[in-house]
Parts: sequence; C-alpha cells; structure tokens
Amino acid sequence: MSSSLIDALEAVVGAARCLHRREELLVYECDGLTSHTAEPTAVVFPESREEVQELVRACGRHDVPFVPRGAGTGLSGGALANDGAVVIECSRLNRILALDPHNRIAVVEPGVVNADLSVAARPHGLLYAPDPSSQLACTLGGNVAENAGGPHTLKYGTTTQHVLALELVLPDGSCFALGSASGFAPGFDWVGAIVGSEGTLGIVTAITVRLEPIPESVETLLAIFPDVVSACRAVGSVIEAGLVPAALEIVDQRTIRAVEDSVYAAGLPRDAGAILIAELDGPAVALPAQVERVRELCDSAGADRVEVARDEAERQRFWRARKGAFGAMGRLAPDLYVHDAVVPRTALPVVLGKVCEIGDRYRLTLSNVFHAGDGNLHPNISFDRRDPDEFARVLAAGAEILAVCVAAGGVITGEHGVGTEKREFISLVFSEADLDAMKRLRATFDPNRVCNPGKIFPTTRFCAESNPKARGYDRIPLD
Ligand SMILES: Cc1cc2nc3c(=O)[nH]c(=O)nc-3n(C[C@H](O)[C@H](O)[C@H](O)COP(=O)(O)OP(=O)(O)OC[C@H]3O[C@@H](n4cnc5c(N)ncnc54)[C@H](O)[C@@H]3O)c2cc1C
Repeated sequence: MSSSLIDALEAVVGAARCLHRREELLVYECDGLTSHTAEPTAVVFPESREEVQELVRACGRHDVPFVPRGAGTGLSGGALANDGAVVIECSRLNRILALDPHNRIAVVEPGVVNADLSVAARPHGLLYAPDPSSQLACTLGGNVAENAGGPHTLKYGTTTQHVLALELVLPDGSCFALGSASGFAPGFDWVGAIVGSEGTLGIVTAITVRLEPIPESVETLLAIFPDVVSACRAVGSVIEAGLVPAALEIVDQRTIRAVEDSVYAAGLPRDAGAILIAELDGPAVALPAQVERVRELCDSAGADRVEVARDEAERQRFWRARKGAFGAMGRLAPDLYVHDAVVPRTALPVVLGKVCEIGDRYRLTLSNVFHAGDGNLHPNISFDRRDPDEFARVLAAGAEILAVCVAAGGVITGEHGVGTEKREFISLVFSEADLDAMKRLRATFDPNRVCNPGKIFPTTRFCAESNPKARGYDRIPLD
C-alpha cells in the first residue's frame, strides 16, 4: 500500500474517515455475494460532493482505481474492490436535500437509505415506489447503479422509471448535472445511461426522484398452493385477466420451512408446496371486485386456500414470509448464493422445473423466492464455501441455471446486476458488437477504466461455456 496515497486521501477526509489497516479493510472485502472477495487499498467516507471530487482526483494522481459503494447489500460483487481499488463509501452522503410535495419530487444524496425516503415522504401522503427487499439497508445510490427493482416493480416499474435527474462526478473529478426535475430533458437520455451502469461511469452524488401518492387502499391475499407450478399458473392467469396487481410474489416450500423455523415465522402451513402473495392497491371502491377475481383465479389454478389480510398486522405477517426469506436462509447453511435471472412469465413453470432438477442433480439445497409477476427468478443455493467440492457444484449449477433461463428467452439478471459475478456470462445475451458499443459508451465517461474496474465486461473474449478457464470453471466438470 502506498503511504503517499493514504496521505493524499487523509488530506481530503481526515484520518478518522480513511480506513487502511488490514483488519479494517476485511469488512469491505465483499458485498452480499460472499463467495467473491477482493481487498481494497483503502476505504474513505466523503461527506460532500467536493470531497468525492478531491478523492477521485487523488486516486487519479496515484494511478489507483476507485469503486463507489453504498450499503454493500449488492448480490453480484458490484462493489468489489478489484485491482486494489480505493472504496469510496457513500453512506455519509445521506441528506434528503429537498422534498417537494407540490411537484412530487425529492432530491437526495446517494447514501440515503431507500426506506428512509418513504418514511420522510409519508407525512405528505407520498412514497418512493421502488422497494427492494433490502430496503431497510440499501442506499438510493446503489439502487440507481443497479436499477433496483422490488416486489412492487410489477405495477410501479424499476428505479429507472423514478429517477428524473442526477449529479455525477466523473473519474477526472469534474461534475455534471444530467436530466431535469421536470422529467423532460432534450437530447440524449443520459440519466437512462447512468441508471443500471453499476458504478462504472462515475459517482452519483445527488439524485432527483419521483414520489408517488400513497394508494388510498391496499388489499393483500395469501394463496396456498400444493406446488410451485400451480402458483406460477395463477400468476399467468391474473396477468392474462388484465389485472395489474402491485405485487405477485412466490415463496416455495423449502423457503416456507426455513422462515417458519426462524424469527420471521408467519404461521404458514409447513406442508404448503408454495405460497403466492398478491397485493392490489388503488381506490378503495375498485378493490373488492379485484380481490374476488384474484381469489377465483387462484382457486382455478389449484390453490388449497386463499386468505385476505383483515388488517395491517395480518398484511405485515404475510409479507414477513417474503421479506424475511433471505435472513431465514441463514439457518440452512453458512453461505447463500442468490441467483437472479428473468424469463418470460409463460416460461416460469417449465424453467422452475428445470432449475429444481439442476439443484437435485448437483446435490444442492436450492430454494426459490421470487418476483413472479415480473418473471424474475431468484434460485437460492445454500452452501458452505469452506467445502471446495460443494462450492464448485454451486458454480456449475449456477452456470446451467443461467443457460436454461437464456434458452427460454430470458436474460442473466433482472435486478442484481452483472457485477463481478456474471461478467463471463454476459456473452450469453450480448454479441461482441453489442459489448463493443457499450465499451465505447463507457470510454466516453471513463477513458482509463479506473471507475469500478472488472465489472460487467468479460475478462475473456468468450463466454464461460466456451472458455471453461473463465472464473475457475476449469475446476468444474461442465459436461
Ligand atoms: C436480503 C437482500 C434482498 C435484496 N432484495 C433486492 C430486491 O428485491 N431488488 C433488488 O433490486 N435488489 C435486491 N437486493 C440487492 C441489493 O440490495 C441492491 O442491488 C441494492 O440496489 C444495492 O444497494 P447498496 O446501497 O447496498 O449498493 P452496493 O452493494 O454498495 O453497491 C451496488 C453497486 O452500486 C454502485 N454504487 C453504489 N453507490 C454508488 C454511487 N453513489 N454512485 C455510483 N455507483 C454507486 C457500486 O459500485 C456497485 O456497483 C437484495 C439484497 C439483499 C442482501
């Protein structure tokens, strides 16, 4: 580690906001994807846009890359400090700069925690709609970088539908304002390019977002199914019937049992094959008919039972099974590999069958909890990374799962991003020409590739299937 770099970083933020001792850096060696690690050179905590600019310039002078980081809940190794990068941790940039109920917008710094914005907007009858299941911890900067979704994406859209304007610090330390609070900006859609760019184009230092009115009424149904396939069938019927639920989420049997054994226990039947949570919101007068229609459609798809939440406490109980699912998985094994892929909704039953078959064939503990309305699958593999044989099987099964999803007309990520995890798989969905075009866009912002290196783009010119050496796949039988 270069002491002159540390001196330069400390000159910007002071010694207390610059970590560089090994034991301090360990905390930042990974994000939510614990199987992938990289030790940063230092971690710094800026408190203003000007400090971010000075930090970026200091990294440039010392020829060291940097990586923006929010809460580190990402699940694709997006905030990993590849190449000994300096981590620029944005959690202290956590002010809500403006909340304008008249125009239904808010201007926030990137370290504002997702759920805190809705709490602040509530007295004005407003909320911030994108609600990742990690919303009590994840930051809006991380949400912008990953184009985060959530259970209510089905009706309200992903982060990109809610971001109006951004302030971006480029790798040379300059700062740009992109987009417009009015929602109309002539010329190129730069905001669209930044949202979902996984922190590779610069550091977002301010975000202008749309706020939505809190719906007048919400109804939540819990449908119990004998198996996950019939639950998927119900999802298809609800969409086909022209209903637009706020959320349609499926939790499978293994997850239900883990939840029921945990502090999140919600009183769900342990023998249920799957549950479907269907949430409807809107004018109170419109909802009873929709609730009845969803109930009928679930019955026709083979539901054993359908319950409607009688009050807010019961609604929260239904959601506890979904929102606590990842935490409950900690009971099954020390590590959890949360996959993320999207398939057309009609392909859900077939793809899920294949995903479970892959899990069984590789002798893995695989469970599913997912945003079914969006066709966004999350096959979760519980494992122990200290067991190299099991870890190799986890990676091999993951590669097959992605291939199955792509073959069904899907893509390799819905909301967690490509990051470090899936960079060798991006060639499954993009050609070399596509990737070259993306690289040229990236070079416009970051010609020296110093901002979050090693993400999104493959390190080889071939996909993992044709190049088994990629990311250690040479140790795994791929036949
Ligand atoms: C239990 C659990 C449930 C989850 N559920 C969901 C879900 O429902 N939907 C969903 O979409 N995701 C979900 N996630 C994934 C994760 O929470 C999201 O990707 C989230 O957007 C990451 O935010 P973060 O603040 O933790 O970002 P980090 O993990 O710190 O970083 C993520 C990416 O954002 C970049 N970044 C961070 N801050 C900035 C900035 N200021 N400027 C530029 N780039 C920046 C980083 O470089 C990195 O590439 C879940 C994760 C967990 C652990």
